[in-house]
Parts: sequence; structure tokens; C-alpha cells
Amino acid sequence: MAQQADIDILVRQVMNRLQTGGTGDSGIFAGMNDAVEAAFRAQKEYMKFTLADRTRIIGAIRKVIYDNAEELSRLTVEETGMGNLQDKILKNRLVADKTPGIEDLTSEAITGDSGLTLIEFSPFGVIGAITPTTNPTETLFCNSIGMLAAGNSVVFSPHPTAKNVSLKTIELINRAIIAAGAPPNLITAVQNPTLEQAGIMMAHPKINMLVATGGPGVVKAVLASGKKAIGAGAGNPPAVIDESANIEKAALDIIKGCSFDHNLPCVAEKEVLAVEKIADYLLFCMRGSGLAHFIEDAATLKRLEEQLLSKGAPAKNFIGRSAQVIAESVGLKIDAKVRVLSMELPFDHPFVQHELMMPVLPLVRVKDFDDAVRKAIEVEHGFRHTAIMHSRNVEHLSALAKAIQTTIFVKNAPSYAGIGVGGEGYTTFTIAGPTGEGLTSAKTFTRKRRCVLADSFNIK
Ligand code: NAD
Repeated sequence: MAQQADIDILVRQVMNRLQTGGTGDSGIFAGMNDAVEAAFRAQKEYMKFTLADRTRIIGAIRKVIYDNAEELSRLTVEETGMGNLQDKILKNRLVADKTPGIEDLTSEAITGDSGLTLIEFSPFGVIGAITPTTNPTETLFCNSIGMLAAGNSVVFSPHPTAKNVSLKTIELINRAIIAAGAPPNLITAVQNPTLEQAGIMMAHPKINMLVATGGPGVVKAVLASGKKAIGAGAGNPPAVIDESANIEKAALDIIKGCSFDHNLPCVAEKEVLAVEKIADYLLFCMRGSGLAHFIEDAATLKRLEEQLLSKGAPAKNFIGRSAQVIAESVGLKIDAKVRVLSMELPFDHPFVQHELMMPVLPLVRVKDFDDAVRKAIEVEHGFRHTAIMHSRNVEHLSALAKAIQTTIFVKNAPSYAGIGVGGEGYTTFTIAGPTGEGLTSAKTFTRKRRCVLADSFNIK
């Protein structure tokens, strides 16, 4: 059997070479229309493949990640200037280990006097996927696994500021899956991804589904397309700490979560709401850890505001930079061990209200738990993304989770537990809050179909 499978792959590889003229196995095209057409043809071919073929192809993507996580993470940091190398490597490997494959496509069955009805999850067709600069390779890998496991092909529109590493990742995936017998161009992109090219992709009649991973602008754009669209948008995750929490652990957890990949993940803690009773002790524990440097004088805070905000919004050149780089920009020399800059601020301060995506952790004192709930909901801005809470009071935990309605609610752990690092469950880098699919996986990228067999196969 194994030999027959090897021969099948070999035949497919020869066919692929013939179809692409022996050269074009990168999936990268000069123009968007060609990229879409090629992905459309590839998906038709892919429909003839078995589930065992799909499994082998997904396995090849996982291997690309294992083999290239370090190099691609290094290239990402170099190109985007953002993030922390070790955390990026961890995030890529997380995708390889914990992104569901075809096992996610569990069928449903209903049987009764009238026979058997089967609910199956079929591919959508060609997906147009727009990816961010904050997790460029992680999102490409994760989406590729889920979308291909579901039987689709995908045209990627990567963020222009992560263009080189994104195109390299797409090429690596294509070469590996073609070697595993996949048709060429299951994954495509254009050489020069721009907003204009993304616009062509979104409007192309052969794109059946759009998936946007990014800020509010791109989510709005896909929702306005008139197509089936999945929007994975911005967050501003609050971490609420009440008087019943294990404060020593909470202090460490919020620092670890906030500083992960220099705060680039959309799930990462962006501000802390601490109830008055324990706020001083929380500050004491954070200071004691040596991992947080507190900004306490008004002049330094003012300089920091000038550096980190540009016209009231986060200054792009500090997004995903280390605490050391940010501190240096205002003339502070801090220990290499420090992972976050922290400060006490009023609730309406822009550092609290904006998703900075910097290892800056503002702390707001709140009167009591009810005040924390009100403020957490307000500062999350209705994104329904992520919230974190440290508490041993189950009623409080339930009350905030119910009131805030975020897609991810992490209890007593750093935020990244919500995407499977030290928390149960699969991972994803496309968390669809606005459109409600939640943590996307292969099943998200399917059409639900009903297959009815009347009068038979009810064997109850
Ligand atoms: P971004 O919105 O600047 O860009 C994301 C992608 O959208 C890029 O490819 C960009 O070129 C494209 N884009 C932007 N506007 C567009 C438009 N009008 N039409 C077509 N394409 C458009 O975001 P970013 O800086 O790359 O990523 C950070 C943001 O993404 C943060 O807000 C973060 O919270 C969010 N994010 C969310 C998730 C999630 O799963 N929910 C994951 C990662 C990042």
C-alpha cells in the first residue's frame, strides 16, 4: 500500500511540473487575477483528492513549520522590526502542534423513522485571506492548515510591511505540499501585495469566502464585500484582578501575558483593572518581581506619551518593541530583565483606552468588583475579543464572563492560555470576534450540507 501511495505522489509531481511548465511551484503571481484563477483551478483538482491525501498535505505544512520556525521568525523580526524572536518561534511551533487538521470535520447524523440525515462539512471553494503584520507567518501557517484541511484553496493578501517573509512562507508551503503530491497553486499570492491588490481579490467573482485577520479597517472592508466574510479584528483585553485573587501569581501572569512577543498578540493583556483593596499589594508584587519597571514621575510619563502616541493613536515605530527600546526613547536605562513598563493611570488615559501593542501595562485602580465589570466592558470597546480575570470567587468569574461576552475569557493564567499555551484546547491566530465564529479551525472554512437518505439506515 505504501508503495502505491508513493507511486501516486510521483505521478502527481510529474503532472504538476507539466502543468506549471516545470517552474511555477511558488504560488506567487504578478497579478491578482492570475493568482485567483490558478487557485480556482487548483481547488477543482484538489476536490479529487482523498482525505488521506489531505492529511499528508497538512503533515507537510507542519513539517515546514518545524524546519523553518527559527529562520522565519528571525526574518519576521528583521523585516517588521517588531516582536521577540523566541516568542515568535514558540508561536510558530504552537501552530504546527495545535492547529486542528481534518479531524476537525466531524460529521453529524440524525436518524429516525424517516431514515438517515447526514450533515457534512464541505469546502467553500477559494478563500481570500488577508493577514496581519503582527503574526505574519503564524497566521499564514494556521490559515493554510485549516483552509486546506477543509478542502479549499487560498489566495493570501499579506500585510505589505511583512511582504518578504510572508511570500517566502507561502513559497515554502507550496514547495512542500507539491512534494507531498498536492496540485500547484493551492496557495497563491501576488508578488507585490498592496491594498489595491487586496481590493481586486475581495471583488473577484471566483473568491467564495473572505477571511480578514487585522484591525477594524480590514474587517469593515470584508464585511462590506457582499460575500461570506469572517472578521478577526482588534482587541483591547483588560485583566481584572479582584480581592480574592492569588495576587503574587496574578502579578507574574499579567507581566508574562503582556510581554509575550512584546505585546503583539491580539489576546495579550493591554491594561489592568485592580480593585482598590489589593491594588497596592499587586504593585508591590509586580515591583518585587524585577520584571516590571514603574514610571512614576509626571515628566517621564509626559515624554512617554509624546513618544508612544501619534495624533492620539499608537505610534507605529514603537509597536512590538521591547521595554528597553521604549525606555531608552525617553532617556531611561532599565535592567535587561525588565519585560514591561508599568504605571498607574486614570481610566480615560489613551494608554488604557488604545490597543497599544507595546509592552506597556497601565494599571487602573477601581473601587470594587462592580466598578471593575463596568470599566472592563467599556475599555474592551465591544470588540468581544479577549478578557482576563484573576479571582478565586467563582461568582465574580462567572459574572464578568457573562457580562463582557468576549470570545476568549481566561481565568487565573496569562492571556496566552486562551490560545493553547498552558491552557487546554487547540490554537488559532484568527480569532473571529466580530463575526462570531470564535477561534477558527478547519470547520469554520466549510459549508454545512445536508444529505438525506429516506426510510433506511435507522437501526435504533
Ligand atoms: P492592519 O489592519 O493594519 O492590517 C491587516 C491586514 O489588512 C493587512 O494585510 C493589511 O494590508 C490589510 N488591510 C488593512 N486595511 C485594508 C483595507 N481597507 N482593505 C483591504 N485590506 C486592508 O493590522 P495589523 O497591524 O497587521 O495587525 C494588528 C491588528 O490586527 C490589531 O488590531 C490586532 O488586534 C489585530 N489582530 C487580530 C487578530 C484576531 O485573530 N482577531 C489576529 C491578529 C491581529
